[in-house]
Amino acid sequence: MATPQHQASDQSPVPGNPYGAAGEYGQTQAPWNQGPVPGGWGAPAAASHAPRHCRACGGQYAEDFKVRSHMGILIMMKFEHLNGPFCRDCGIAVVRQMTTRALVLGWWGPLSLVIFNPFTLIWNLLGYRKFSKLPPSTPAPGRTHLDTGPAVLRRPQAYVTLIPIAWAVWIISQALTHSS
Ligand SMILES: [Zn+2]
Repeated sequence: MATPQHQASDQSPVPGNPYGAAGEYGQTQAPWNQGPVPGGWGAPAAASHAPRHCRACGGQYAEDFKVRSHMGILIMMKFEHLNGPFCRDCGIAVVRQMTTRALVLGWWGPLSLVIFNPFTLIWNLLGYRKFSKLPPSTPAPGRTHLDTGPAVLRRPQAYVTLIPIAWAVWIISQALTHSS
């Protein structure tokens, strides 16, 4: 029963991030986070001196990272996030879920298209890189990793993104042909 002497490093989320004062745990409803999950999921990992275990499975090597998603339709925007810490597998699972969601829902408003969704995608890519550098960890007894599922680009929904890209290319090419 040795308590690991793990000091939570003071890794504050980006200063001045546009999401500002984000809420506490559990505000975001991710598709896989429905219904009660046994074993402390969603319990705030309150004490900052606590060793960092995966929130989802209790695995030992976990990175504290806020995974984001974005939804933007006309002027309506919704910023979603899930706070870590997550272990390698659960982190990758959450990044894939949230990123796919952003690829489907995040393009449909002007600011979302130009600013917020690209930011969300880059942010999650950084998260993906962090999580994939972690060593694999074993879930706590009686718990399992979240299902990583297929890679984002192997999910058909991700290709909804081609619509705004095609549209943007068309707009730019129109602008170029008409300006000459
Ligand atoms: Zn985990």
